Amino acid sequence: MGRGLPVPDGAQVVDLQGMTLLPGFSDAHTHFGGSARLDRPGLTGRFGSYDYAEHREAALRWGVTAVRSAGDFTPEILEFRDEVNAGKIRSPRVIAAGRMVQADGGHPAFTVFFSDAAIVENACVILRADTDIEAEIAKLSDLGVDWIKIFVSDDNKMQYPCTVPRLSNEQLRRIVDAAHKHGKPVMAHVDDIGNLKDAVLCGADSVEHTINVATSDHEVTDEVLRLLTGRDVWVVPTMTATNLHEGSIPGAPPVYPALETAVGKMVRAGVKFGVGCDSGIPFIPFGECVHMEMELLVRAGMEPLAAVTAATGGNAKLFRKNDVFGTVEPGKAADLVVLGSSPLDDIRNTRDIRLVFRDGSVVIDRFFAQ
Ligand SMILES: [Zn+2]
Repeated sequence: MGRGLPVPDGAQVVDLQGMTLLPGFSDAHTHFGGSARLDRPGLTGRFGSYDYAEHREAALRWGVTAVRSAGDFTPEILEFRDEVNAGKIRSPRVIAAGRMVQADGGHPAFTVFFSDAAIVENACVILRADTDIEAEIAKLSDLGVDWIKIFVSDDNKMQYPCTVPRLSNEQLRRIVDAAHKHGKPVMAHVDDIGNLKDAVLCGADSVEHTINVATSDHEVTDEVLRLLTGRDVWVVPTMTATNLHEGSIPGAPPVYPALETAVGKMVRAGVKFGVGCDSGIPFIPFGECVHMEMELLVRAGMEPLAAVTAATGGNAKLFRKNDVFGTVEPGKAADLVVLGSSPLDDIRNTRDIRLVFRDGSVVIDRFFAQ
């Protein structure tokens, strides 16, 4: 990296005059095993293998060189991550939360997963009245998860109106304290502003979704903004998911306009944003969704440069991996995207992808191949 450097003998010189070079994009909220696994017929018990080929190719095609899994079949997602990190699989980098911690009777095991034992056993940790919370968090830590994923939601997202049990603030504090003791940050699924406040006050490191389908608590007060800017916490609003799921629950009023207003207020207040999409759930296209999310953030009031920065270096900071990737500078891995035009002119230009490098190798080529 630098200006006027000597070109080593035998090196290939690539002239990118007029193009834009960026760090690779990332998706801060994916279910990388996702619905493809859940749709598989005859789903029973543990799975012997993983592949996720469609998802990893879609991600790379769209310049997404890192993903944070917000909950997937475990240990498969962790085995997959380790193979990726060892360079054995062509894939975006993977940061993974493993099994998701939730309330007995609550979302998602008892709502979207319909208590299906095969899914719940592989993807969830249910906290019952007598569950030893610290022991469960220690188990996840021993498995090698990078994050602890928790659900802070009393909405049944399949019906409206309908509430379900939620983790108590006492449980939240114990989870967060135990996770931090093991050096694991906590990502909290929240569906409304009340959930968000509780999650942040209990010490969550990132809050996911913000205002989701079938919720009614939308008011982002100055107190909420002070809470979010006064702490080291990230908001990952998954606007794409709320947008594409709008109208999917019979009788539920629209919430996307409220989310857009909330995100606009947070942008103006200087809240830290991650860019994540909830890819892996129905209707969300892997890879492409990162570009949709940047477009929605800009529509909500974010500057194009801020949206691109959030989806690259910002996400890397959120992942605690900014010493490895997320910026174009000496010492960082060469996860790079070359665009044919500038996203500062129009955020939709992030889709104008010519080359994608993952760790210094060309993985997507629409440049030399021409
Ligand atoms: Zn999710």
